[in-house]
Amino acid sequence: MHVPLTTADFCYRARTVHPARLGAVDEPGVPGALGRLTYGELMLRCDGMAAALDRMGIGAGERVAIVSPNAVKLLIALYATTGTGRILVPINFRLTGEEARYIVDDAGASLLLVDAELDERLAAVTAPRRIVLDGEHDAELFAPADAPVEWPALDEDAPATINYTSGTTAAPKGVILTHRSHWLNAAAVGWGFGLAEADRYLHTLPIFHVNGWGLPLACAALGVPQVIQREVRGPEILRRVDAEAITLLCGAAPVAATIEQAAQQLRDVGAPVPGQGRTRMVSGGAPTPAAVIEQFERATGWEMIHAYGLSETGPVLTANRVLPSEGLSPADRARRLAAAGAPLLGVRLHTGPAGEVLARTAKTTDGDWNNPDATAQAFTDDGWFRTGDGGTFDDGVLRITDRKKDVIVTGGENVSSLQVEAVLHQHPDVLDAAIIGVPHERWGETPKALVVLKDGAAFDEPALIAYCREHLAGFQCPTSVERRDTLPRTATGKIQKYLLREPYWR
Ligand code: ADP
Repeated sequence: MHVPLTTADFCYRARTVHPARLGAVDEPGVPGALGRLTYGELMLRCDGMAAALDRMGIGAGERVAIVSPNAVKLLIALYATTGTGRILVPINFRLTGEEARYIVDDAGASLLLVDAELDERLAAVTAPRRIVLDGEHDAELFAPADAPVEWPALDEDAPATINYTSGTTAAPKGVILTHRSHWLNAAAVGWGFGLAEADRYLHTLPIFHVNGWGLPLACAALGVPQVIQREVRGPEILRRVDAEAITLLCGAAPVAATIEQAAQQLRDVGAPVPGQGRTRMVSGGAPTPAAVIEQFERATGWEMIHAYGLSETGPVLTANRVLPSEGLSPADRARRLAAAGAPLLGVRLHTGPAGEVLARTAKTTDGDWNNPDATAQAFTDDGWFRTGDGGTFDDGVLRITDRKKDVIVTGGENVSSLQVEAVLHQHPDVLDAAIIGVPHERWGETPKALVVLKDGAAFDEPALIAYCREHLAGFQCPTSVERRDTLPRTATGKIQKYLLREPYWR
């Protein structure tokens, strides 16, 4: 029996199996926030939104764009638009007006939803209909239905979302993810991260980022309460972990660093760190060096899980979990966890001749919106998806060595910027580090380190280079180091190395 796999399956399970369980907790104090809703109430809001979209004449296949930090309304929009055959276009809320307008236009959105705080900045971003999420103008859209309504039958191969890539590369591409892709990803991620009914999830990862990696769907299926975290601030995250008895959260390495600092501050004054021995944090979307993992686990007493993937692959390809019951030392755990890990169910991996990581999974996009040519280039002749990342896949474990674009070629030798960064992260004075290739007369290019120092640390260029020499081959070591106050990162935590490189190559 061929029954289509759609996002509506997750909503069906939430409303049928767990209607009385806590479904979502909104950020308090935000105008129009929806408070605490059971899954039954959450799904009636989805019914209400579906009916409102019907009344507006927004039909199946039409695009609904939304620019919002994490909010219950963003969850409702994800469930209600995709579950009824519309296509959701979640947009990075940190983009400029110009960038957001490009996406809204490229997607051809019929409806644009804008968070009230972003309204002014995005005033020039328009669509045939534009609604501000302020609790007044959107009141009809998010009003609950009186009773559940029937959602239409859907095609599993129809697009559910278009996710525009985060912009470490030039123009954003609209990655089309189908219902089938969402379904398989949510199920595989649920297993990979060990999600279970007793979990309580905190949305620290921006939901716009590849649909929160599938957690909104997986949590709905299992009746896992979803607590909204609108802004990433370490002390506030720890407060939520405590108050809402959180057991799982996700984010990129810088989010982990923020939490680690807040946890360390608690330790310094002898206060308990909430969630110890109970909470898991999945770090992914950008490299997470072993030193960061070790410091994080020591400071928080939480378990770190490492994940790797791309928007195009739906997104998560691998997860690395080392059960605390294995009893490894913190340093050994961190060394193991620094690898991207094991392929999720339904993912096959291998490396191509140039060391590029190739993936084959039914979750992978069939194409970019408005750009079918780009899609063809993304596959090898025998149908493997080219990730653009260098790596190794041995004994079932994937290790990412570098983005192909970020590898530094110096005097014919390849230097993995990630490997050098991992060493600098071990240095007691270094808070953050980026290695880029800069021009060199003799070697073509040479590694340069840009470092952010910890509070109170003194900058000592020769000492940092000497430290690298202790741990790396000569050609891998930076030949110069500069101090920076911050490193530019995308909303998903990736260092924007092209921005850092540019002034040196101009
Ligand atoms: P974009 O390619 O536009 O930055 P994505 O969010 O799809 O948007 O980024 C995917 C890339 O992020 C991967 O190709 C890889 O380079 C990087 N990445 C994601 N997770 C990890 C990880 N755990 N370790 C190393 N790199 C990662």
